[in-house]
Amino acid sequence: MAAQNGSGNGEHGARDLDVVVVGAGFSGLYLLHRLRGLGFSAKVLESADDVGGTWYWNRYPGARCDIESIDYSYSFDPELETEWHWSERYATQPEILRYLGHVADKHDLRRDIEFSTRVVSARWDDAASLWHVRTDRGGEIRCRFYVMATGCLSLPKTPDIEGADRFRGASYYTGRWPHEGVDFTGKRVGVIGTGSSAVQSIPIIAQQAAQLTVFQRTPNFSRPAHNGPVSPAKKARFDADPAAYREAARWSGAGVPLEIPLEGALQVSAEEREARYEAAYASGDLLAAGSTFADLLSNRAANETLCEFLRNKIRSIVRDPETAEALCPKDHPYGTKRPCIDTNYFETYNLPHVRLVDLRKDPITTITETGIDTAARSFEFDIIVFATGFDAMTGAIVAVDITGRGGQELADKWAHGPVTYLGLTTHGFPNFFMLTGPGSPSVLSNMAVSIEQHVDWVSDCIASMRDQDLTVIEPTATAEAAWVQHVNDYGDITLFPLANSWYMGANVPGKPRVFLPYIGGVDRYRKACDEVVEQDYLGFAFEGPGGPRCHDGVIRRLQPDVAILLETMATLDLPTMESMSPEEARAFSVAMSAERPPGPDVGEIVDATLPGAAGELAYRLYRPASPGPHPIVAYFHGGGWVFGSVDSDDPFCRDLCVRSDAIVVSVDYRHAPEAPFPAAADDGFAAVRWIAANAEALGGEPGRLAVCGWSAGGNIAAVVCRLARDAGGPRIDGQVLVTPVTDCDLTRPSYVENADGYILTAPLMRWFWDHYADPAERTDPKASPLRAADLSRLPPALVVTCEFDPLRDEGTAYAEAMAAAGVEVRHRPCRGHIHTSLTAVDMILSGAPIREEMGGALRRFFGASVPA
Ligand code: NAP
Repeated sequence: MAAQNGSGNGEHGARDLDVVVVGAGFSGLYLLHRLRGLGFSAKVLESADDVGGTWYWNRYPGARCDIESIDYSYSFDPELETEWHWSERYATQPEILRYLGHVADKHDLRRDIEFSTRVVSARWDDAASLWHVRTDRGGEIRCRFYVMATGCLSLPKTPDIEGADRFRGASYYTGRWPHEGVDFTGKRVGVIGTGSSAVQSIPIIAQQAAQLTVFQRTPNFSRPAHNGPVSPAKKARFDADPAAYREAARWSGAGVPLEIPLEGALQVSAEEREARYEAAYASGDLLAAGSTFADLLSNRAANETLCEFLRNKIRSIVRDPETAEALCPKDHPYGTKRPCIDTNYFETYNLPHVRLVDLRKDPITTITETGIDTAARSFEFDIIVFATGFDAMTGAIVAVDITGRGGQELADKWAHGPVTYLGLTTHGFPNFFMLTGPGSPSVLSNMAVSIEQHVDWVSDCIASMRDQDLTVIEPTATAEAAWVQHVNDYGDITLFPLANSWYMGANVPGKPRVFLPYIGGVDRYRKACDEVVEQDYLGFAFEGPGGPRCHDGVIRRLQPDVAILLETMATLDLPTMESMSPEEARAFSVAMSAERPPGPDVGEIVDATLPGAAGELAYRLYRPASPGPHPIVAYFHGGGWVFGSVDSDDPFCRDLCVRSDAIVVSVDYRHAPEAPFPAAADDGFAAVRWIAANAEALGGEPGRLAVCGWSAGGNIAAVVCRLARDAGGPRIDGQVLVTPVTDCDLTRPSYVENADGYILTAPLMRWFWDHYADPAERTDPKASPLRAADLSRLPPALVVTCEFDPLRDEGTAYAEAMAAAGVEVRHRPCRGHIHTSLTAVDMILSGAPIREEMGGALRRFFGASVPA
């Protein structure tokens, strides 16, 4: 597939290559090596005068990696693993730069790198299926493929402080540090910023400077790095089997082999929690603290326990209480802004010539010719250091004028945030790849591992195109939109959106607020990329002499936490419910229920009995903590009319009580096959009548009653509404039907599409029906409410259906039928959810906003005004 002439100078100074790569850092170097090995003509264009990328530019004092060097290194060359020895656990910038220089020399990479060459534009030529790349050295390169290997943190943020260019002393950016170094001896120095670069440089600058003033806008979490020689334990583990170690890293969450805890932080005792945090603190490992418990990045209360532990460490180090308090991060959960590891960072504030200015209390008003003015004070400096960070993840990419199909500019396409497929490609920009681009794990992982994975994927893709005589690749709009959705779905079940971080684009004024990286983990991400290839490059369109080719589709459709739950369940190899007797299924359901989180606290819980259609029924009442009387919701549990109880749906009922601010009365109706159709429906109606008649005694508001049910319980709730209408009472204010059974037809498309694999299967549903009702009875509207001749005058309804649920279509049909009969209905389809998602309180976090809608619907039924 060599583009016309192969490499070398063409006419009029234009050259033709297979691939142009921008950037000679970790990723560009390895990509060049791979492409050459595959026989492609390739050049790397690099604006610096040597290799190194971020490690070329970030030469500020104290710069070093914060992932252990054993991990933060290439794995592609086994020789390199044995011939290179890191002198420290966290190597310094000069050592990392030497390492990259060594790799470039060893593989003779420099001869295909053009240094001091900045790419200014890249334009896709649709007619020729080539990119035209222009540099600041003039001339043009035509290439088949164009790859941005420009790094995630490479474009320093432009100064956004008034007067930044006015200062007449020396000023430096940590991300563009002079090669000759800076002598701070005897100088009055101001440092702006307290991110990773500042945390590393401040202790060293303080050693030289006569006076050091640190301007802090947001304090950062940091722990001692305990740097020193490479850890013997780690080295022994690595040396025992380097290949196995690397493979474990590739299939880990963060790109470093780690034990993953299963418990949440609040599930262990305070002593146990403290002990684990102490161990993480002592380890000096950046990833250790955040991985102490499973829920630190998703549960605010759990996260706060770690925050307070770390704040107390700061308080114990910094002697001046006011400075200590100012250094304690309080505005963001741990991990949602990149935490740091340090050497004597907090200790530095105990030095007499070092002071902290808390910009939250006393903001910078301007930089002056002689220093920095804050609202309250004027500071004079000889040197100002801007440790103010980067236009992360997108800045360096859109800094080049990249024009795709139809003259579309990438900067315009991304005006509202980056849009990519797998963080590797973007629709409308054929044959264009980004390494560790937005929408990939990148900055949330060990970059060395993520870079190698991206380079391998891109190289293999280009090679496979050559093998198949394909010339153009482009992601489809469908695949891309779904990937962006998936990335956002993941972000939304974490605490990351709560912080004003560069992960969210929040550090650059005017930048869209979008969660930029992919938080699903290196392992899950790698699996998705591999599956795309296995499925014939799902979501990519190809062109070639043989014509266009495309296997369009979506690689991840389930909500991320639903997918994780299903993965976990698959590993347990559980028996199917329909292979059990009803007694066994009941026992199994009880055992499963015992394992889940308990749900939120409510004001009061009362267990009692009420008269059913044929004897006493147990019920459980949940009372809100707010002052009563409250409206009442009669609730019917799921379980296919065969199993389930007040216990099985306890967390969901608690949640419903809290979110609706209503009393929830969960009723234990009789079960099949011992009490078959219509026992459950009759019990449901009897219970609702009793609750209505006894509302006051229950602490409720008489006359204010709604019903709610999940699955078979949704069936009962629906049936009860019609029975109440026909009986002339009791009056029901509204119905919330959660993935309800509404019909006995098991042939709808949702049954076919979701027959297996999503917990509620088609065979299980058949098993339920077989136990509940004879075939002749199933069409009775008391069993199949969709079949009722008249659905008018039913209470207003919220019908919730899930995408991957056999019952989806009958729920939808019921909502439509009620609406057609004039009932006020809101149908809420839930993308990426399964039948059991929404009731899995504190397990499926993506279900929480939908449960909030259920609570809102109930409050609205009761006449409360609820914000839309
Ligand atoms: P950063 O984390 O974005 O920190 C920039 C700092 O400057 C923040 O404290 C920020 O405050 C402050 N700032 C920015 N604009 C300001 C303004 N106008 N007025 C006052 N303060 C302002 O940047 P960084 O320290 O260069 O680090 C960036 C990332 O690079 C790190 O998160 C890390 O991923 C990577 N890095 C890694 C290493 C390592 O491996 N050891 C070292 C350095 C960097 P706000 O927080 O309020 O915005």
